[in-house]
Amino acid sequence: MVNQLDNACILIVDDEQSIREGSERILSRMGCRALTASRGEEGLAILDREPVSIVLLDMKMPGMDGMEVLKEITLKHKHILVIVITGYATVETAIEAMKKGAYDFIPKPFEPDQLRIVINRALEKQRLTMEAEKSELARQRTLLDLDTEKSRVRSIVESLPNGVLVTNAKGRVVLMNPACRRYLGIPPEKETGLPVEEYISDKGMCRLIMEISEGCHVDYDDIPTYEFASAAETYLLARARPVLGEKRECLGTVVNFADVTAMKVLDRLKSEFVAKVSHELRSPLSTIHEQLALVMNDMVGEMSKNDAHLLSRAKEKTQGLISLIGDLLDLSRIESGSVCQEAKSIQLEDLLRGIVDFLGTRAKTKRQSLTLQLPKAPLSPLTSDPLALESIFGNLIANAINYTPEGGEIKVVADQAGVNLRVRVQDTGFGIEAKHLDKIFERFYRVQDEKTRFITGTGLGLPIVKGLLDSMNGVIQVESEPGVGTTFTVLIPAIK
Ligand code: ADP
Repeated sequence: MVNQLDNACILIVDDEQSIREGSERILSRMGCRALTASRGEEGLAILDREPVSIVLLDMKMPGMDGMEVLKEITLKHKHILVIVITGYATVETAIEAMKKGAYDFIPKPFEPDQLRIVINRALEKQRLTMEAEKSELARQRTLLDLDTEKSRVRSIVESLPNGVLVTNAKGRVVLMNPACRRYLGIPPEKETGLPVEEYISDKGMCRLIMEISEGCHVDYDDIPTYEFASAAETYLLARARPVLGEKRECLGTVVNFADVTAMKVLDRLKSEFVAKVSHELRSPLSTIHEQLALVMNDMVGEMSKNDAHLLSRAKEKTQGLISLIGDLLDLSRIESGSVCQEAKSIQLEDLLRGIVDFLGTRAKTKRQSLTLQLPKAPLSPLTSDPLALESIFGNLIANAINYTPEGGEIKVVADQAGVNLRVRVQDTGFGIEAKHLDKIFERFYRVQDEKTRFITGTGLGLPIVKGLLDSMNGVIQVESEPGVGTTFTVLIPAIK
């Protein structure tokens, strides 16, 4: 308050010298800077050059009277508070002055205390007005900052090279950047606000976005990436995440689209190259293999033990290469989508019986028991490619034989699991350590340890199985305990 008074500059406009001098004295003692004028015109001139905040104004003065001075002040100096000085007989004038913009009035003659109270009230009012103005200014600045920040974030999102699409919790699109529109073939005039299916034709992508928006995936780690071909002949890889609120409630979904068309083309070229090379190698290798067999047959008894050993190793190796080439060709056929096209109605029991019979001979040479368990009631018929199914179960049972030591047990158990047909291939073999379990379906991945080192293989069997099952909407799971055994479980939907 002291500071306020020290800074306050107060003008007394009154033709009565005693009022001027008395007021000046009281105000100076209060710590204010007091200026005086005996006429209205003189007072107004002071206001033009001094930082006056309060005017004590006599209403009755010769020349320009108080009311006229008040009018000028309210017009030209809106921030100045005017306190009118009135005689007892002119209360009406005071009221009129207040109506015309005066802040307060003080009747004449007045005691020093009365003046002090009125002045303090006016100063307090000025302080409050100043504070209110300050906070209004701060509020406007904050709003402006927010607006600038918002437009800055918007510009960043707009200029991102990747596509960005944001939905609300109801799956309605609230934001799309230009890259997103380009990738999805959405014209610039199409406004946001509609359900996501109105912008993306791929049903799987829409389903994933809806699931996330509805709060089914608040844990980031379990959200799969999703690949699809967009309307604009572009392959897109989508990564979607929920937008979470303070209480981890789902406010919507943000999806990032990356253009992977070039990678897809490269992948296809690579597959075509592998297929071509494999094809070219297969016939000469088969010829070498056959000729080695012929030589070994023709020269029985004539070769040294060492030569016979070398030739048989060479024959084994060419057989290994022929299997590798066969697997590579199978894989490229799966990748190009040219398998599982010969769909027929199949009774899975018959198919499994055939494979178990065929591989039974191999199991016998290792003194293993290979059995097939079928349910009493017939399984639902399956509409699928028999060659693909033979490849799936042939690979799994052959693996069980390969990775189970002599005298082990292999069981193939088939049953109906709702709409799915379930086949379990169980063995009492070496088992697979947990750290390898999610890698064995990758191409060329082979577990190399003391027990499996000498078993030949290509590392392509399980990727082929997985690829074939993917193409028929089936799934494969594996459970294993080292030293105890492994179970591969396959589920295939009976209805296509
Ligand atoms: P390959 O058998 O030609 O090496 P696969 O892709 O069929 O290739 O299998 C990959 C790896 O998974 C194998 O090298 C082996 O280590 C492991 N594996 C597969 N099946 C079994 C099984 N039944 N028991 C133990 N290990 C297995």
